[in-house]
Amino acid sequence: LLSARGLHKSFGENHVLRGVDLDIAPGTVHALIGPSGSGKTTVLRSLNGLETPDAGSLRIGDLAIDFARPPGRRERAALHRASAMVFQQHHLFPHLTVLGNVTIGPVRVQGRDRDEATADALALLDRVGLREKADAYPSSLSGGQQQRVGIVRALALAPSMLLFDEPTSSLDPELVGEVLAVMTELAADGWTMAVVTHELGFAREVADEVSFFDEGVVVERGAPAQLFGDPRHERTKRFLQRLQ
Ligand code: ATP
Repeated sequence: LLSARGLHKSFGENHVLRGVDLDIAPGTVHALIGPSGSGKTTVLRSLNGLETPDAGSLRIGDLAIDFARPPGRRERAALHRASAMVFQQHHLFPHLTVLGNVTIGPVRVQGRDRDEATADALALLDRVGLREKADAYPSSLSGGQQQRVGIVRALALAPSMLLFDEPTSSLDPELVGEVLAVMTELAADGWTMAVVTHELGFAREVADEVSFFDEGVVVERGAPAQLFGDPRHERTKRFLQRLQ
């Protein structure tokens, strides 16, 4: 479904991505792990068109972009539509209800029929156990519930894949489990997912593949059992040892 080759990105003097390759097969979960500042979030944002790499290429489904030439508005918009992002902070609109937050994208941006979008949104909220919160405002929800609404909002856009940027790292520890449970169900349902995470337990149990990032490159990739159980590279070993 997705293949990225040789992604480079600098912010001023800071050469953040130094030739990143990434492949994600349809229906699989790919975890991106590695130390802070290694470029994981920048890669994820590049996949969604929120950052534009300086070089490299990207293919998602039928869409192919070569960053040798800056992508035009249409290409960026197509890239943005191909996936939906769940952020570390959920960024819900405080003045809209839960239902309003979920339907605003499909109705306003995608031009979908409001009644249909509402019916779909209620079904999705039901799936994550939040049907009865449809008319509530975000401020009345717990952090975990807000993040589940963030996930439903992404699902409502009917993307071909889901991108998660450390979706649990701003939550209190007791709320992390409910969000990871929803993500685990989505994986079981066959969603294609890229997940930047510090939750190595989740990566080990739910991911099909893991890429270990350090200093702007993928140092090592593999199945979780191999990467966590028998890492090949010194840098991966050191990273995993520090966390034990
Ligand atoms: P973390 O786990 O802390 O989120 P990360 O691996 O996701 O780290 P990135 O967020 O991709 O790393 O950041 C990589 C580097 O790029 C950092 O040095 C960061 O300061 C820098 N960076 C990211 N976004 C920008 C930006 N918009 N402008 C300037 N520098 C940026």
